[in-house]
Amino acid sequence: MPTSCCCRPRFFVASALVTLLACANSPAAQKSRVSSDNLTVVIDAGHGGHDRGGIPGQRVAEKDMTLDVAQRLRNLLAASGYRVVMTRDSDVFVPLPTRVAIANSYRNAIFVCIHFNATQRRGASGIETYFYTRDSLPLASAVHYYVTGGAPSANRGVRRRGYYVLRKTGIPAVLVECGFLTNPTEAAYAQSASYRQKLAEEIAAGVRGRNSVGSPLSSTRVATSETIPLQPYMDQTKVSSSERRKSKRSHKKSARKKKSSSKSSNSEARASSIHPEG
Ligand SMILES: [Zn+2]
Repeated sequence: MPTSCCCRPRFFVASALVTLLACANSPAAQKSRVSSDNLTVVIDAGHGGHDRGGIPGQRVAEKDMTLDVAQRLRNLLAASGYRVVMTRDSDVFVPLPTRVAIANSYRNAIFVCIHFNATQRRGASGIETYFYTRDSLPLASAVHYYVTGGAPSANRGVRRRGYYVLRKTGIPAVLVECGFLTNPTEAAYAQSASYRQKLAEEIAAGVRGRNSVGSPLSSTRVATSETIPLQPYMDQTKVSSSERRKSKRSHKKSARKKKSSSKSSNSEARASSIHPEG
């Protein structure tokens, strides 16, 4: 669990990263970005319809935030010349297999799934980006690089986890958790249209820069698949609470074998793992 003292280095790192981002966003850097290269971007707004997302009693509906960011992202990428496909473009429920089927019906495509996080612990905060296949790592690294650089929230890292939409898609696929709606500060950010626009702009920058963010930064900011252990897969839409507890225990057992430096992120992963399908 993070404490106030261990958050400080994080903020220091965050401010350093903002500086890095400022350099990356310089006109010279923007000129070097590729435009569309005939890529199709499948944008997946998490949840929808009867599925509000988040946790019971959560005030801000995740499904509304994800759709708004997805629509803003669609507009930005379409303006840059990308072909954009939305798995949903209104407040409707789309089953996960349908979302995957839409993604898998395109070639030369990538899948960008947008979520916000939730947990019972109100203090939990920050942005995390998930991938599953090795081919998805450059995209995950790039999206995470830009979003964490542009957002004031903590950087919770790039993580590998077998979420359904990441396992079943045959194209590079990432799931970005754009902050905790159960955290009062981050919920306030998310409710601001300008902040959601900023999130969309940074995700779009990650899409454009998906092949250019990587090795030079890998030792400092961008994780590699070697440094990211695969977190145990849980179909969080189906497990009962007792199974969750059992899974947490086995996770804890394996976590003890890991280096002490990784204990903090593992415990944070557990803290956020109640989130249904990301
Ligand atoms: Zn979600």
